[in-house]
Amino acid sequence: MNKTILLIEDNEQNRYLTTFLLERHGYKVISAADGMRGLELARNEAPAIILLDIQLPTMDGYAVAQALRAFDHLSQVPIVAVTSYAMVGDREKTLSAGCNGYIEKPINPDTFVSEIEQFLPDAHKTGDVS
Ligand code: MN
Repeated sequence: MNKTILLIEDNEQNRYLTTFLLERHGYKVISAADGMRGLELARNEAPAIILLDIQLPTMDGYAVAQALRAFDHLSQVPIVAVTSYAMVGDREKTLSAGCNGYIEKPINPDTFVSEIEQFLPDAHKTGDVS
């Protein structure tokens, strides 16, 4: 079972919290602080799901999502935007860039993992082990 999650997030505190929560539920987290590194990891590691910040340096999350979808073997991987952008239309913008869903920051540590798991096939789910 593929339990690798790719996290593309430039904020160190957010990376730390997200990684902590996911690892506690048995996931392996690989992370990138910018889109180019994220694309490289996505190609090499074949993650089960990709969590994508939208406000990123150099290449924003919309551009990253579009680039991820251009890789054949990543065309079916769930991409979930995790972002504090909450303007009307932002959700639609993430979806049209290729994301499957959208979670607003600040994340809720009590529900974050189960929110992510809704985007995974059933076989990946661990249940609540916290
Ligand atoms: Mn950011």
